[in-house]
Amino acid sequence: MTTTSHSVEADYDAIVIGAGFSGLYILKRLRDLGLSARLYEAGSGVGGAWYWNRYPGARTDSDSMIYCFSEWFDEDLVREWGWRERYSSQPELERYFNWVADRLDLRRDIDFDTRLRSAVYDEQAALWTLTTEQGSVATARYFIPAVGALSDPNVPDFPGLADFQGPCHHSAQFPKDGIDFAGKRVAVIGNGATGVQIVPEVAKTADSVRHFIRNPCHLVPGRNHVLAEADVEATKEAITEILGYSRNTFGGFPYDFLGTALDTSPAERQAAYQKSWEQGGFTFLFLFADVLASREANDTTMDFLREKIRTLVRDPATAGLVTPTDPWLTKRPPLEHGYYSALNRDNVHVVDIKANPVDAVTSNAIRLADGTEHEADVILLATGFDSYTGSLSKIAIRGRDELPLTARWADRPRNHLGLMSAKFPNMFMLYCGPYNPAPFTNGPTLIEQQAEWILDWIQYLDANGHVAMEPTEAAEEEFFALHSEIANSTLIPETSSWWTRAAAGADEPRLVMSWAGGFPEYRRLCDVNAAGKTDHFVLR
Ligand code: NAP
Repeated sequence: MTTTSHSVEADYDAIVIGAGFSGLYILKRLRDLGLSARLYEAGSGVGGAWYWNRYPGARTDSDSMIYCFSEWFDEDLVREWGWRERYSSQPELERYFNWVADRLDLRRDIDFDTRLRSAVYDEQAALWTLTTEQGSVATARYFIPAVGALSDPNVPDFPGLADFQGPCHHSAQFPKDGIDFAGKRVAVIGNGATGVQIVPEVAKTADSVRHFIRNPCHLVPGRNHVLAEADVEATKEAITEILGYSRNTFGGFPYDFLGTALDTSPAERQAAYQKSWEQGGFTFLFLFADVLASREANDTTMDFLREKIRTLVRDPATAGLVTPTDPWLTKRPPLEHGYYSALNRDNVHVVDIKANPVDAVTSNAIRLADGTEHEADVILLATGFDSYTGSLSKIAIRGRDELPLTARWADRPRNHLGLMSAKFPNMFMLYCGPYNPAPFTNGPTLIEQQAEWILDWIQYLDANGHVAMEPTEAAEEEFFALHSEIANSTLIPETSSWWTRAAAGADEPRLVMSWAGGFPEYRRLCDVNAAGKTDHFVLR
């Protein structure tokens, strides 16, 4: 039996960690079911990723109309909020989250500025004991980390970084008061989704922007615009049908594959790429189903993208530096909101740090391996996250027999459906578990499906007198084998990115951390493993 040094102050049916889409969704729905729930949030407000990522230019890459809570969350709310832009900006999303929290009075069940230190399972009592950094101790039957897969900032260990005299911030730790970039020389490091959003925005006012790039990413245009009132109203009318359709597409978006690239004539293929390019948005990702698995098909997209970059970026040397070499879709492609045109400005320069890596940061400059120094007044680190396992491993999670989660996952994460791990009973990893389909799926669509699966199980356990459930190790292995078979039949393992890990051995592919088989197949697996229908879980 586990004991704690502090006395337990409260007992809940469930404790949820994180006040983003996933945490707020399940908090509200637990409440609907009459269960007692508490939510701990490290930040001072709601929004999760959209609370923390307040860097210049931050906005969604899903269309705003589907990047929100659905009618599963609340029948009325889904038709009340009118999105202003095609892709909502961080400030608009933060307003939305606050509106939702106020309308549903969610704050009364949330402890803000509260970071979870440890979660320890007591098998005899069938309870989790959760201790926060602030010293509170509470128990719960169900422990629901909803911490996101991208919430633990990756800050490079450049020598001298701490000695830099000017402001230096990771994108997820950008100051709430903002920074006045006027007249400043700004260094932006990293060119994933975050870096390419920051550069054009900062370039509008900064004296100069130097963008330090290692491996260029693939970009498709977003074509953001203010939405016409009539379109917003029409979308609200049809939202239930739109979301219903989306739940059955590969990515949970309101569009799906046209066919395969190799079975489409070159002229038709080109026309499809061009049409989607002009429309903007993620339709470009879901044109042809074979581009993720066939190099020949993939090359058709790469040829199109290379040609676009050549025409959009005037300086051929700069165009070369931002032309990706990794296969299309093996990194999650961000939307472009003026990045390529920003590269044509006199005050924006790309610096190649693959051939000439960062050697050190001095008090006022970034020094490269060849000794070149780039002076800067501000450094912005758009260097991504310790994905999937970072935030979970920072909490001391111990399951049955005091087993640390980090020990069970020492060689690779082990779980079933990206949702539950053997030996960690009643711990549901909502939207943050390795091998879930998050990178390919519209966030709220996946969150709501996973949350409803969890809630069905909780009701089943309670109704049938069970106190705990956990997957069998055999179920985990079966799921991982299927996940690996699908992932390794794609080109994803060829590229290093936040959804891959270094290979375990010289002859092995990189470990793919995300389900690549599409949302419908993932949902089907979850349905097969739904409450009361499977022997893949041990019930107590
Ligand atoms: P990311 O895609 O992981 O990109 C990180 C960038 O930093 C990469 O270019 C990486 O280079 C570089 N980097 C990392 N460590 C470095 C080091 N030590 N030295 C030099 N460069 C380094 O991270 P992100 O841009 O924050 O985006 C992550 C994900 O968040 C996205 O894929 C997306 O899912 C989500 N996101 C979405 C939006 C949106 O529009 N809704 C916006 C931002 C983020 P290498 O590639 O060479 O490793």
